[in-house]
Parts: sequence; structure tokens; C-alpha cells
Amino acid sequence: ADTAMYQAKRRGGGYAVYTQGGEERLAAITLETALNRALERQEFVLHYQPQWEARTGRMVGVEALLRWQHPELGLVPPADFIPLAEVTGLIVPIGAWVLRQACEQAVAWTSLAPELRMSVNLSARQFLEPNLIETVTWALQTSGLSPERLELELTESMLMQALEALGTLHRLKDLGVRVVVDDFGTGYSNLAYLKQYPIDGLKIDRSFTAGVASGLPAAGRDEALVKAVMNLAGALGLEVTVEGVETPPQLDFLREHACDYVQGYLTGRPQDARALGALLEGRRITSAR
Ligand code: C2E
Ligand code: MG
Ligand code: MG
Ligand code: MG
Repeated sequence: ADTAMYQAKRRGGGYAVYTQGGEERLAAITLETALNRALERQEFVLHYQPQWEARTGRMVGVEALLRWQHPELGLVPPADFIPLAEVTGLIVPIGAWVLRQACEQAVAWTSLAPELRMSVNLSARQFLEPNLIETVTWALQTSGLSPERLELELTESMLMQALEALGTLHRLKDLGVRVVVDDFGTGYSNLAYLKQYPIDGLKIDRSFTAGVASGLPAAGRDEALVKAVMNLAGALGLEVTVEGVETPPQLDFLREHACDYVQGYLTGRPQDARALGALLEGRRITSAR
């Protein structure tokens, strides 16, 4: 039933571009052609957002976030093109490029930050693709990155939809990479997978962070939820990253409640490789605050 629901949801969402009027259809086809060309012309770039250990203020990793450097439109955010890339399957070659580029960048930063982790988002389509394991292996081998420095971000719905998810996760773990659940709390709340699946951590979605220490009426509930998820994760031996940390009181709250890692505009926006490299050079001074 979950699978059927998921497919219905996808049909209602992503595939809508094909079922609406002619204009949207044309726009989708034009975008598809442009995306193909973008891959050939190497117009994709990765930005990197720092992830900090809350307790020490040490930068422990970065999340690779895809952008399209369009010749006329400038920097296009992933929300504008990933949904169509997903529907058309273009996300598979684009995702392979992301994996390889991210691994190579992590290796290039090794002398500055020998243990820095590189987190890469996987799409549902990539996760279901039979070549996933080979692609990850290829990215690790061609770059020379040690597997424990690569972290893959999957969403709850990806883990729920596929019968083969458990097998795929085990094969990823056999490679030695880390696996975390992204946008935790926004997908299907079937918590059973937390005990069955070999995952290393949870990333609490920023929609829960927003209310924390905000003084808004919802603050108490968001704080309770974030605390509860951190406790649950701790009890299950999972590490927690809180996303979308934007204010000093939020960071204080998370530190007080023994959050593992924080990521957000307060502690660093996504930035290009050069800017992130400069940050790494000064990272002993530039702590999480
Ligand atoms: P995500 O993986 O949950 O990434 C976090 C998003 O939140 C990023 O948006 C980031 O810029 C934004 N963000 C970080 N800190 C803050 C904050 O403090 N406040 C607010 N309001 N936002 C914050 P971005 O880069 O636009 O990416 C959006 C989504 O696109 C990502 O969500 C991810 O699902 C997807 N995505 C990005 N890169 C890739 C990729 O290479 N492959 C795939 N399959 N998906 C990707
Ligand atoms: Mg992510
Ligand atoms: Mg996320
Ligand atoms: Mg998110």
C-alpha cells in the first residue's frame, strides 16, 4: 500500500508536468533538453555547506549541494530542476557526476582537513538504480576517497518505498560509507525502520528547527519534538544533525540538549569550493559561533 501511495504521490507531484496543458509540457521538454546540454557542457557546480560538531564547534563535514550555473539565468537552485531530472531519469548521470565531483573535492581538501566528511544527497531514482553500488564504488576508487569519509543522505520515503531498500543499504554499508536519513520527520513516520535498517544518523528537518527558541507559540512543541528525536536517536545509537539552525538561541538550545551536529545559515551558508576551502584554512579560529 505504501508503494502505491508513493507512486500516486509522485504522479500527483512530479509527473504533473506531463499531464497539464501544452505550455507546461513544452516547458518541460525545453528544460529536459537544456539539462542534457548542461551535463555535456559541465554547467553543474557543487556548493558546500559546513556541518559542525555542536559540543566543540569543530567543522566535521560538508554537505554537497547541486546548482546549475546557467549561462543566462545564473545560479539555478536544485528545486528548479531536480524534480524534472528525477522524472526523466537524467538524475542518474547527474547524480553520478555529483558523487564523483564531491569525492574528488573531499580528497583535494585532505591536507587541510584529513577527516572531513562529504555528504551527498541521493535521489529516489538513484537509490533504486541497479548500478548504484557500482557508481559509488567508482566515485570512491577514481577519487581515492576513504569510504568512511563519504556520507549518503537518503529520505524516509526512499527507504519505505522499495522492497530492496534493506539489501541496498547493507551493500552500501559493506562499502564502508555512512548513511543518514535526511529531512527526518517529514516522510512516513514508520519508526520500525529505525531498528531494522543499518543507518548511522538522522538529520532533523529544518521545519522543526524553525520554532526552536523562537518565542513563537509553536516553540514549545518544536522544542519538545527536537528533544524527543534526539533522545530516541541517542537510545538507538544514531547521531543527530539538526538542519536549518539560523539563530544563536537555537544553537544554544541544541548545545544544551546535547545535539551532535548542527548545520544552517547561522554557522555557514552553502558556498563554492573556493570559499569553503578558505574557511577550512581558518577553521581553528572560525568555530561554530
Ligand atoms: P536538503 O538535502 O535538505 O538540503 C538542505 C537545504 O536547506 C539546502 O537547500 C540548503 O541550502 C538549505 N539550508 C541550509 N541551511 C539553511 C537554513 O539555515 N535555513 C534555510 N531556510 N535553509 C537552509 P538547497 O541547496 O536549495 O537544496 C534543496 C534540496 O535539493 C536539498 O535539500 C536536496 O533534497 C536537493 N539536492 C541538493 N543537491 C542535490 C543533489 O546533488 N542530488 C539530489 N538528488 N538532490 C539534491
Ligand atoms: Mg541533504
Ligand atoms: Mg536535509
Ligand atoms: Mg531538507
